[in-house]
Amino acid sequence: MTTLQERLSTVRFRPDPEPHIVVDGDVCRECSLHACVTACPAGLFTPLSDGTVVFSYEECFECGTCYVACNREGAIRWRYPGGGYGVAFRDA
Ligand code: SF4
Ligand code: SF4
Repeated sequence: MTTLQERLSTVRFRPDPEPHIVVDGDVCRECSLHACVTACPAGLFTPLSDGTVVFSYEECFECGTCYVACNREGAIRWRYPGGGYGVAFRDA
């Protein structure tokens, strides 16, 4: 049986030069829940000791979970990557 890690290793990314997700650190500083950290299946949000989070968009699965899970309006600006960019899958 194929494991989740094996399936995830079949994912390839072509990052949009213009980030398709932007996180507002000032809004995050007021957030104590940090739901994005546990909700993102790709683990792209990392909490810092100053209360903010570091985010990298390059290996995003485009699932939208962070946008739904975030409880702070305006913290996440989300769109799909431009044409030809973003997540792609190949046969294992
Ligand atoms: S993105 Fe949303 S859930 Fe994550 S730390 Fe910022 S405000 Fe909180
Ligand atoms: S869209 Fe999904 S994979 Fe991308 S950053 Fe948000 S939760 Fe993570």
